[in-house]
Amino acid sequence: MTRGKRSADAIVIGGGLHGCATALHLKRSGLDTIVVEKDYVGRHASSANAGGVRRLGRALPEIPLAVAALASWHRIGELVDDDCGFAVSCQMKVAETESELEALRDRRETLLSLGFEHEEIIDQEQLRGLLPAIAPHCVGGMVVHGDGHANPFLTVQAFKRKALALGVRILESAPVESVQKQDEIWQVQSAQGHLQAPILVNCAGAWGGRIAAMLGEHAPVESEALMLMITERLKPFVTPVVGAQGRMLSFKQFDNGTVLIGGGHQGRAEPDSNRTHLDFRELATSATTAAILFPRLRGVQLVRCWGGIEGQLPDGIPVIGASAVEGAYHAFGFCGHGFALGPIVGRIIADLIVAGESDLPIGAFDIGRFSSPTAA
Ligand SMILES: Cc1cc2nc3c(=O)[nH]c(=O)nc-3n(C[C@H](O)[C@H](O)[C@H](O)COP(=O)(O)OP(=O)(O)OC[C@H]3O[C@@H](n4cnc5c(N)ncnc54)[C@H](O)[C@@H]3O)c2cc1C
Repeated sequence: MTRGKRSADAIVIGGGLHGCATALHLKRSGLDTIVVEKDYVGRHASSANAGGVRRLGRALPEIPLAVAALASWHRIGELVDDDCGFAVSCQMKVAETESELEALRDRRETLLSLGFEHEEIIDQEQLRGLLPAIAPHCVGGMVVHGDGHANPFLTVQAFKRKALALGVRILESAPVESVQKQDEIWQVQSAQGHLQAPILVNCAGAWGGRIAAMLGEHAPVESEALMLMITERLKPFVTPVVGAQGRMLSFKQFDNGTVLIGGGHQGRAEPDSNRTHLDFRELATSATTAAILFPRLRGVQLVRCWGGIEGQLPDGIPVIGASAVEGAYHAFGFCGHGFALGPIVGRIIADLIVAGESDLPIGAFDIGRFSSPTAA
């Protein structure tokens, strides 16, 4: 794409999964759309994540979105002409003590009272049936059948390819420097030239608070460097994706035998320089946690570890919805669990823009929650 002035119906800031998915849905709805990305598509969290697609353990307002997203994942090929490496596999949370199991039972009751039945409690015998390699002290857990995982890199590239094929224009190495509204039209200055459109969507991930500030809105996004590590190839010993009720853990074994270990341990993020600094003490805690729950991991070699920059909001849920400024929309700050929601959030934003409403409940994600007198 050449430098200069470009016009469109919509400008999406951020070429992560949410930006590409939003652009794809907007273009399908007939809007000429430009994605403007400061680095390159999929440079950040959208490619660096663990690929977990779960309804298990979601914050309550996110459950309807996670349920709808899962349905999209099961038909992901229809959306982007690629299976994105999506595989169905149950997601589990292990309880190491009776009180942890009790907390999981309480959680199930809460979900049942809201009409959601997907989280099931399992006893020790059922746990061993699903996870023969689990440490003997574990007493039970929670399981969700039908969740799964996908390949993050393949996914974001598939969304990019499909968006391009539909006619979305993608501008890379183009940090947005300023955003102003003049006569109902957004004027966006990027390092690759000037863009204008009546619709603006902020999908800037951990940088979403900065774009919101350009619109005069407040969202206290903290940048986090979530870390993951991967082991050497091991004989197959676990098929579900495993977490723990009392510890930070996310654990899955791939078909090639390697095991991905994460769960929220953090390094240090430098969003201004795009850098993440790994914290090896935290990684050691993460590895120890995995070995406590799966004793056969003791002595196993870790072959790689990395971090990705993610945006965290104080209440642990993202900002999704219309801005208070007409013609602008937000979808950012996914707090470590936005990959799974990728296919649905783009549709929500496109519905808001095109139809003026979404069929999913998104009130809890409104950016206004940070500027209300209560928030202050
Ligand atoms: C290590 C790790 C593990 C994770 N595991 C999971 C998991 O298992 N399951 C799950 O559901 N989620 C997981 N997540 C979270 C998930 O990756 C994110 O929530 C999701 O990818 C967010 O997508 P995004 O498009 O909002 O953000 P990003 O992928 O960060 O994209 C935002 C884009 O905006 C661009 N941008 C920012 N500012 C500007 C600007 N001024 N001008 C132009 N472009 C700009 C950035 O360069 C970036 O490319 C994990 C995250 C990490 C880091």
